Amino acid sequence: MSDKLPDLIDPLLFAERRSILAGALNIAALERLSDMVLKTDSEIEVNVQFGKQGKRALISGKIKATLELECQSCLQVLAWPIDLSFKLGVVSSLQEAEQLEIDCEPLMFNGEKVSLNELIEDEILLSLPDYPKHGYDCMPQLSSKDPDFDDNSQTETNNPFSVLAKLKKTGE
Ligand SMILES: [Zn+2]
Repeated sequence: MSDKLPDLIDPLLFAERRSILAGALNIAALERLSDMVLKTDSEIEVNVQFGKQGKRALISGKIKATLELECQSCLQVLAWPIDLSFKLGVVSSLQEAEQLEIDCEPLMFNGEKVSLNELIEDEILLSLPDYPKHGYDCMPQLSSKDPDFDDNSQTETNNPFSVLAKLKKTGE
């Protein structure tokens, strides 16, 4: 599980070899993601398979982890399990990108090696909500301001009209 994953890769070469990269990636290695989580010393499980469909190089991957996000309501730890799958088609132009199947995102490749770490990181960041929150009402109860009995009891039980009625009667 602690196989070291390469970072910079040539996706075409890997596709040609039908390589499989499986291992763990430390969150701390992913700078942008590290900024968003409360705990960076845990691992992300990664499994990436390279292959070809016709001439097209394809990359399909799975990412699993449990992140510790900060709940945007209560600012406490929010355990956020992720279990993602992605599929990328390696392309070198927008035209090629348009030819990809719908379930396949384009990965622009111009010959320079691609960072597998960044690729994984992008997939994770895309999956995260803008405002992560606990799925329940996690805000500390704003206790009703005064623990003492709230004494604005509207005990004006005497109906002024009944008083008038009385006066009328006695005024005979
Ligand atoms: Zn919360």
